[in-house]
Amino acid sequence: MTAVPTAPLAVPGSDSSLDDLADLVAGGDVVVLSGAGLSTDSGIPDYRGATGSLRRHTPMTYQTFTRDPRGRHRYWARSFVGWRQIRAARPNDGHRAVADLQAAGLLGGLITQNVDGLHQAGGARDVVELHGGLDRTVCLACGDVADRGELDERLRAANPDFGPRVDEVNPDGDAELPDEVLDGFLMVDCLACGGGPLKPDVVFFGETVPRDRVERCFELVEQACSLLVLGSSLAVMSGYRFVLRAAKLGIPVAIVTVGPTRGDAKAAVRLDAPLGTVLPQLVGRVTG
Ligand SMILES: [Zn+2]
Repeated sequence: MTAVPTAPLAVPGSDSSLDDLADLVAGGDVVVLSGAGLSTDSGIPDYRGATGSLRRHTPMTYQTFTRDPRGRHRYWARSFVGWRQIRAARPNDGHRAVADLQAAGLLGGLITQNVDGLHQAGGARDVVELHGGLDRTVCLACGDVADRGELDERLRAANPDFGPRVDEVNPDGDAELPDEVLDGFLMVDCLACGGGPLKPDVVFFGETVPRDRVERCFELVEQACSLLVLGSSLAVMSGYRFVLRAAKLGIPVAIVTVGPTRGDAKAAVRLDAPLGTVLPQLVGRVTG
C-alpha cells in the first residue's frame, strides 16, 4: 500500500480533526452539498467568503431580471463578457477529490449550489445542480432550454466589436460594465419561439428553486448516512434547509469550509480549513 501523506491530527481553528472526518466519510452513503468556496481555487469568486464580491456588487435578482428589460439587458451585456471567464475555469483538487470519493463508491448523492459545472468537469456524475447551470439558457416565454455556447455564438455575431476588458466577474457570470458600454450591446432572443426573452438556466437571488429539484435533494439527504457540506457558509435557506433536515433526522453533518457557517451548531464534525488541502488528504485516508 502506498504511504499517504501525513496530515496534522488537528486542523488549526477547527473543532474536529481529519480523523473525525475520515471516520464519517469511510462509512459511505455520504451526500455532499457543495458551495462557492469549492470553486474559489478555480478563480470563481465567492459572494460571501473572505474575497466575496457582495459588498462591491449586488447580484441580479429574479424580480429585476424578469420585470425590468433594462436590467435584463445589463445582465446579458455583462454576462456576455463574464461568461468567458466562467467557461475558461478548470476544476481544482477539491472537485477532483469529490469525484474520487464518488468513484470509490462512498457517495450517496452530490448536490451543488454552484452553477459553474466544475464538479462534472472534474469527473463527477449525477450532480444535482440545485441552482441550475450557466451552460444553459431557458426562454421566459416558451420554456425552451438551449445550450449557452450556441447563444454565445449568436451574441458574438450580433456584437462583433463588443469586447470591453473586465477585472471582476461574479459567480453568476455577471460582470461590472459602465452604462455607456452597456448601451452598445445588442441582445438576441429565443430561437424556438422567435422572440421570447432568454434567462440563464440558474436560480437567481429572490427566485424559488423548482419544487421537484428540492424534493429530489430531500430524498437524497433522508437516505444518507451523513451529510458533508463543502465550501458553503449556508447563508441561504435553499442549502441550509438540508442541514436542518439531516440534523432533525439524526443524520450526522460534517462541514468543511473556511470561516464560520450558519450550520456550525448542527455539525458533528467541523473543519475550518481550505478544501484544496483537506479533501485530497481525506481521499488518501478513506481510499488508501
Ligand atoms: Zn422561447
